[in-house]
Amino acid sequence: MGMSRDITAGSHVWVGDSELAWIDGIVINVYAAEAEIQTSDGRMVTKKLSNIYPKDVEAPAGGVDDMTKLSYLHEPAVLYNLATRYEINEIYTYCGNILIAINPFQALSHLYDVYLMERYKGAQLGELNPHVYAIADVAYRAMIKEGKSNSILVSGESGAGKTETTKMLMRYLAFLGGHAAAEGRTVEQQVLESNPVLEAFGNAKTVKNNNSSRFGKFVEIQFDKHGQISGAAIRTYLLEKSRVCQLSDPERNYHCFYLLCAAPLEEIERYKLGDPKSFHYLNQSNCYELVGVNDAHDYLATRKAMDIVGISEKEQEAIFRVVAAILHLGNIAFAKGEEDSSMLQDDESKFHLQMTAELLMCDPQALEVALCKRVMITPEEIIERSLDPLGAAVSRDGLAKTIYSRLFDWLVNKINVSIGQDPHSECLIGVLDIYGFESFKISSFEQFCINFTNEKLQQHFNQHVFKMEQAEYQNEEIDWSYVEFVDNQDVLDLIEKKPGGIISLLDEACMFPKSTHETFAQKLYQTFKDHKRFVKPKLARTEFTIAHYAGEVQYQSDQFLDKNKDYVVPEHQDLLSASKCSFVAGLFPSLPEETAKSGKFSSIGSRFKLQLQQLMDILNSTEPHYIRCIKPNNELKPALFGNVNVLQQLRSGGVLEAIRVKCEGYPTHRTFTEFLNRFAILAPEILEGNYEEKVACKWILEKVGLTRYQIGKTKVFLRAGQMAELDARKGKV
Ligand code: ATP
Ligand code: MG
Repeated sequence: MGMSRDITAGSHVWVGDSELAWIDGIVINVYAAEAEIQTSDGRMVTKKLSNIYPKDVEAPAGGVDDMTKLSYLHEPAVLYNLATRYEINEIYTYCGNILIAINPFQALSHLYDVYLMERYKGAQLGELNPHVYAIADVAYRAMIKEGKSNSILVSGESGAGKTETTKMLMRYLAFLGGHAAAEGRTVEQQVLESNPVLEAFGNAKTVKNNNSSRFGKFVEIQFDKHGQISGAAIRTYLLEKSRVCQLSDPERNYHCFYLLCAAPLEEIERYKLGDPKSFHYLNQSNCYELVGVNDAHDYLATRKAMDIVGISEKEQEAIFRVVAAILHLGNIAFAKGEEDSSMLQDDESKFHLQMTAELLMCDPQALEVALCKRVMITPEEIIERSLDPLGAAVSRDGLAKTIYSRLFDWLVNKINVSIGQDPHSECLIGVLDIYGFESFKISSFEQFCINFTNEKLQQHFNQHVFKMEQAEYQNEEIDWSYVEFVDNQDVLDLIEKKPGGIISLLDEACMFPKSTHETFAQKLYQTFKDHKRFVKPKLARTEFTIAHYAGEVQYQSDQFLDKNKDYVVPEHQDLLSASKCSFVAGLFPSLPEETAKSGKFSSIGSRFKLQLQQLMDILNSTEPHYIRCIKPNNELKPALFGNVNVLQQLRSGGVLEAIRVKCEGYPTHRTFTEFLNRFAILAPEILEGNYEEKVACKWILEKVGLTRYQIGKTKVFLRAGQMAELDARKGKV
């Protein structure tokens, strides 16, 4: 990273270490291209000079609150700075105007006091300790001052703290734009209370996070011309449907199922519920309770939040009735009937079928037929075909997933209608909380979509931080050696190019009746055999690997075709649109004759791509701010800072590259006019002469004795800290 390499015996240095990533030590001997170092844990190691970095012995003991203030800027310094701060519970650090937030995994309530909100209000960025409030404040001020929409993009891997961060941002914005002493439900209260409702239905315990969001979320908070919150819109992305009927130990299903099982007795009896262990959709995993969570309490809290967001008592009853129905549905088991048909396994299954039908208010016989049989329409005749027990179970799970995802969409829509949109809103602040990059042993279509999202957001980040910065330098023709960064346009082309990208090829495969995942995989191998970002793993028959910006991910194509088809079995559709419960029927509006008959396939991948494009269009019309959340350990424990882990996240989030650009570049740009307005006072004599602006700016800078700044065609470019230096001079005039 461009620093002097005068390493001599006695120098304090950083050297690479397999376990700690970097360790400090003292140079004992220097040879031609290597040095011998005594590490701080008492070992002697020999390393190449090119892998040794100087350590700043004068660095402040508590670290620096902005990476751009580091005197030696390199990976170990960045890491050490974060670790030092984390140790004293300073979890926030700036990197220029990017905020890095490291999950404390413990309640640090002093950090979020209301009186702190008061202090951050209107404060300059950097004046106070780094904080999410400061970022929200900057976004709000910028919106008010420039009349332009802003957005705050929160990213990081699962469990890094995105959702918690998002909630704090929303609380602070509600504090700034709230209505003092308003009666009843205010818009901001509704916006805040939408969080527990969506979490009850869209979050679950996973191995990575006890409260993992299984959907992406973009909350658009609208403001009126007085800067008060006047409306809001919540957009959600791609809820993980499979979790409703498939769990692996020690994960849990969506919280709402456990909440309902812990509801007051009256409800338990009404819905014939009981121990979560008795339900197939919950007992595939051995985890039922969460440490520190009281489901009975949370059930009531969720109901209260539902009241506030405007979901009526009657609707709430229907919502939980549907949740109960899904649990009963899951307990319907099938046995082999005559020939290839299936029948209900036993009396217990009959009971659950009866209960499901009762709760969904549909005909039990019709429900049984819809689960066990399929109607095939051929040009000649209509054939009723029986499903074998396995087929019937798949049909049952499909129904459960459809009902649940429709229920979730209903909730989101209801919240939006109830909060209301402000058609006259001038500006908005968008807050994005979306799933981070994922790579599992078996990555499937969901990971593919999630990682596609991250590629898109990374490009946005790149464009913003790198391209914009550099384009500006180039426009202004200042001396600037181009900083390389990893552009990911080629991965995006691979995924979304139309025609010819993976999503396009997947849609083609879904429309062609004879395709299988094997033919799909073959097509990919053939099409992308020379693509730099696409790899066919050795011996693979249906897997493929994409070299994402954050690392390689191997995808298993097995279920890509099925998962890409947004298909509701017509029998299920007919059954529930005929429900006597208007709420249930409303989840299954009858389709226009045309679409229903044509059986036209609707692609989840393509729709997701479109949603993402719309999101990017909104983001592109806003001034973005970034918060990078970091998960310091995989044990979810406080005070544990895993160097290797953290570095990997800093790298894959582009933070290290951003630091380099910021510091090697010129973080402050001011037009000549702006500069003169602010600093002419430093050289009053120029006001008398009739100088060109550019000459006048140069005059001031020379007079003050600054170096390393640059003067472009229309702007002055200052290095980090120089603006403050000039301001300080002003105070002395
Ligand atoms: P996912 O992608 O799985 O949804 P996430 O990034 O949204 O993960 P969160 O749910 O926000 O992660 O955080 C995980 C957990 O970490 C929280 O439940 C909480 O226990 C803890 N946590 C995160 N941020 C903070 C914070 N600022 N203070 C205290 N605890 C926190
Ligand atoms: Mg989350």
